[in-house]
Amino acid sequence: MSAWLADSSGKLPRVAIVGGGPGGLFTAWHLEQRTAVPLSLTIFEATARLGGKVCTASFASADIQYEAGAAELYDYSPVDVDPLRELVQQLGLPTVAIGGSAVFVAGRSIANLDDLGDVGGASARREFANFDIRSRSAMTPADFYESGSDHAGDAVAAGRFEPALDGIGCGKARRYVDVMIHSDLATEAGETSCGYGLQNYLMNDPAYMQLYRIPGGNEQLMQAVAGRLAADVRLNAAVTAVGTGPNGALQLQFRSGERHLVEDFDTVILALPMDALKRVRFTDTALADAMRQHVEHHDHPAHYLRVSVLLDRPVPVLPGDDAYVMLDAFGGTCLYVESACDPCATNGVLGWLIGGTAAVEMASLTDDALVATVLDSLPPPLAICRDRVMEARVHRWTNAVSALPGGWSRLPVDRRHRPSRAHSRFFVVGDYLYDSTLNGVLDSAEHVAGWVVAEHASGPGTMLMDRDRATMEALQ
Ligand SMILES: Cc1cc2nc3c(=O)[nH]c(=O)nc-3n(C[C@H](O)[C@H](O)[C@H](O)COP(=O)(O)OP(=O)(O)OC[C@H]3O[C@@H](n4cnc5c(N)ncnc54)[C@H](O)[C@@H]3O)c2cc1C
Repeated sequence: MSAWLADSSGKLPRVAIVGGGPGGLFTAWHLEQRTAVPLSLTIFEATARLGGKVCTASFASADIQYEAGAAELYDYSPVDVDPLRELVQQLGLPTVAIGGSAVFVAGRSIANLDDLGDVGGASARREFANFDIRSRSAMTPADFYESGSDHAGDAVAAGRFEPALDGIGCGKARRYVDVMIHSDLATEAGETSCGYGLQNYLMNDPAYMQLYRIPGGNEQLMQAVAGRLAADVRLNAAVTAVGTGPNGALQLQFRSGERHLVEDFDTVILALPMDALKRVRFTDTALADAMRQHVEHHDHPAHYLRVSVLLDRPVPVLPGDDAYVMLDAFGGTCLYVESACDPCATNGVLGWLIGGTAAVEMASLTDDALVATVLDSLPPPLAICRDRVMEARVHRWTNAVSALPGGWSRLPVDRRHRPSRAHSRFFVVGDYLYDSTLNGVLDSAEHVAGWVVAEHASGPGTMLMDRDRATMEALQ
């Protein structure tokens, strides 16, 4: 960014962002957009590519893309300002709305209350309708929107989700809800909170949010952000340790090829998911202690497994042009018809998003065994696709997301992002602090970037003292 100039001493404040996924790139974006003072920004990324789990891959036998990671973006603009939607718009990226109403249980499609009544009788219909009313009154669209903030009310209170589901007094209605939400949760109902469980149920209602994707691949969002950054991006640079150097600066140890290097920074922001964060060593005792507590609070791993197949012709059109259906296989699985929104598609692309315990258990199967297993789960309208497979790809995402973002009790937003009071210029950014989504990691990035910018603008000390006071008050 051209406005970044050296200060009078000739040295720019040095900011390191560790992680070149959405969290790191969004943080860099907001820092560069918002700062009025000169900063020197470096992004460390362990692999050869930016984008993290937003990963649009290509098949080998045809130049056709599929989503290996995040497939949906969530649009909250019907409820309030949606920073992700605004960013996508600002970057000039096209979008297409996606939806899916059918839940396949025992081979039958259930798309509405009448279908559920046909399959499960009056009690299934009644029990589901009551669960739906209870869920909506426990969490309004405005509650949902605020759920990651310090203004969140009781709707995000702790307590496991399972008892709420057990309140559905009909097995068929319960199964229907389980199948509807399991792959979004990426965990089992007993492993997450009522608040997070309800969010994953209510997200199916357009009054709460709407779903969209970027035609040609969601990774274009990450490329568009990265392409506009002035930051020094270091690829294949895995940070291994963080500590305090002899001069009091924050010190990063990192691997770059065969070399082990050390570099000092004024501010360090770790934009890493929990599995990567746990591999970083903290050489300063106070920082190590604070990070141990941070990890203990937020470490609730959840799992995904993705199988994508390329077909030699388009997928049969689903009712309502649905872009996905839910299957009762593997505890509840989302099957994306990725080619659904492209009327000119010459080939079909199907993607299974398997979550939770099933994803862990199945991750040990060979790719061939996995592909054969998922093809057996095709619902009747898509069963014909089985004989049309040209190529298949598998991506294992064990421990890659959070089953309980924010932990059992949410900490104040400032404290979530600055785990050690003794290290006022050390921050973390992550979706695991909000809701395991791109919207959440953008909120997190925006919060930290705003804090860092304000601190550098006001000079060392002042901003931090105000923040410390606010955090202490919130904790009392
Ligand atoms: C299968 C799957 C489906 C998903 N679907 C959706 C969806 O539909 N919608 C949605 O909103 N979200 C979805 N998510 C979640 C979404 O992908 C995450 O919210 C988002 O990727 C989090 O961004 P992040 O930067 O925190 O982590 P990551 O995306 O994991 O990026 C972290 C980056 O840090 C790098 N790194 C790791 N260790 C180091 C180190 N020591 N030094 C330097 N760099 C390091 C990694 O290589 C990576 O590039 C999905 C996730 C998965 C796995």
